Amino acid sequence: MAVRNNRLTAEEYAQHFSDIHPPFETRDAAMVDANRCLFCYDAPCTKSCPTGINVPKFIKQITTDNIKGAAFTIFSSNIMGGGCAKVCPVEKLCEGACVYNLMEEEAIPIARLQRYATERAIAQKWQLFERKPGIGKKVAIVGAGPAGLSCAHALSREGVDVTIFEKEEKGGGLMTYGIAAYKVTPEFCCDEVDFITSLGGIDIQYGKVLGQDVTLTELQQAYDAVYLAFGVGMARQLYIPGEQLEGVVDAINFIYDIRNSGYPAVPVGDQVAVIGMGMTAIDAATQAKRLGAKEVTLVYRRTQQEMPCTEAEMNIALLDGCKIVWLAAPAEIRGEEGRVTQLVCHAVKLEADAGGRRQPVITDEKIVLPVDMVIKATGQMPFEQLIHDCQLQHNNGKIAVTDNGVTSINGVFSGGDCVNGGKEVVDAVQAGKDGAKVILAYLLEGGNARNSL
Ligand code: SF4
Repeated sequence: MAVRNNRLTAEEYAQHFSDIHPPFETRDAAMVDANRCLFCYDAPCTKSCPTGINVPKFIKQITTDNIKGAAFTIFSSNIMGGGCAKVCPVEKLCEGACVYNLMEEEAIPIARLQRYATERAIAQKWQLFERKPGIGKKVAIVGAGPAGLSCAHALSREGVDVTIFEKEEKGGGLMTYGIAAYKVTPEFCCDEVDFITSLGGIDIQYGKVLGQDVTLTELQQAYDAVYLAFGVGMARQLYIPGEQLEGVVDAINFIYDIRNSGYPAVPVGDQVAVIGMGMTAIDAATQAKRLGAKEVTLVYRRTQQEMPCTEAEMNIALLDGCKIVWLAAPAEIRGEEGRVTQLVCHAVKLEADAGGRRQPVITDEKIVLPVDMVIKATGQMPFEQLIHDCQLQHNNGKIAVTDNGVTSINGVFSGGDCVNGGKEVVDAVQAGKDGAKVILAYLLEGGNARNSL
C-alpha cells in the first residue's frame, strides 16, 4: 500500500477529469430541448432558483437564437450563472421543480441550456452591462468568491468604485478552489472572474489577508463602506486518536491541491476512506478514485435518508466505483511507523430524540477498514478568531447580520458563507446582490447608525 502521485498517464488524467456534464454538441440539440419548455406562467423553476433567474424567458430567447439576450437574462440575476450552470445541485433546485417531473417525464435540462448561453458569452467576452456614471463612493470587499464578486459587480454597475482584497492568488473562491475539477475547470473559473471584472470599476488586490495585510479599521477609514465575504475556514477536526498520522488529510486541502497543483502532483492512497457524505466528501471521494486509488470508501454515521449530498451526487460516487458504509462513526485512526493503516469505526443505530429527529447512538460493534489514506470531510469551521478580532457580533463564529447583511458595526456589511456557515455557490451570489442593494442605499443616504445591528 502506498500514497503516491503520478499514478496515471496524461491521457488517463485527461479522461478522468473531463467534463462530467458535456455541453450540447450542436445548436439543433439545444433547440430541441429549449422547444420542449412550456414557458410556465408561474414558473416553479424560477421560484426554486435562489437568484431568481427568469428561466422561461431565457429559454424562450434561446428558441429564437437570441443567445445574447438569453445570457443577459441569466447574468442579470446571477453574474456567476456560467459557473452555477456547472456546479449547482439543479436536481434539488430548478430542474427538480420543473413541471415535467409531475408528468413523470424528463425535466428540461435547464443547467445545460444556461451553459449553452453563458459559455458563449464568457468565451466571446460579450460586454452585456454598462456602468452608470460614478457616484463618488468607494467600497472595500474582503473575498473574491461568489458573494464578493456578485456584490462587486452589482455595486460597480451603480457607479461605485470597488476594491476587493483576496487572500489567494486567483479569484472565484469556492468555485475556483473548492469544487471537483470534472465539474468546472480552473481555466473556466479564471475566465469567469475576468468576465465579471471586465465591467470596470473593480480592482482585485490578490494575496491580501484580512487581519495580516490589512485590518478592518484601516478599510473603514479608507472606504465609504466595507463588505465582508471571506467564506469559511479550516476543515472541522474529528478529535479522535490518530488524527495526526501521516496519510490523514482534510478534503478542503485535498481538493484545493488538485485545483491548484494539477492532478498528477497530488498524492493519493490505494485504499482511501472519506469521512462524511456532503458535497465536499463526494468531490473528494470521486477525485481520489479518478486520481488512481484502488478502493475508496465513504463513511457516514447516519443513513441515505439523512445524507447532506443529493442522490445525483451520491450516484456519481457509486458510478465511479466508490463504496459507502452507512451508520459508522469514526472512533480511532490506527497506524504503524507514523503512517495510517486502519480506520476504526463504531457501528451506529439511529434512535428518535425528543423532537423526533433520528440521532446516531453508538453500539459495541466495531467496523475496521484497512486504509492508507483518510480524507476528512465533515464540514468547515468559521474564522472565529478573525471575526472576534474585528469585534463583530457573531453566532458561534458566524458573523451576525440582519436579514439584509447589516453587521453590528455601522458601515460594515457581510454575506455568504461567513454568515451562513457554508451553503451553495448560488446562495452566496444572491447574498452578494442583497448586500450590494443595502450598501448602495447606505451610501446614498450618506451612512447612518441605523445601519447596524
Ligand atoms: Fe420550462 Fe420546466 Fe420551467 Fe415550466 S418549469 S418554464 S417547463 S423549465
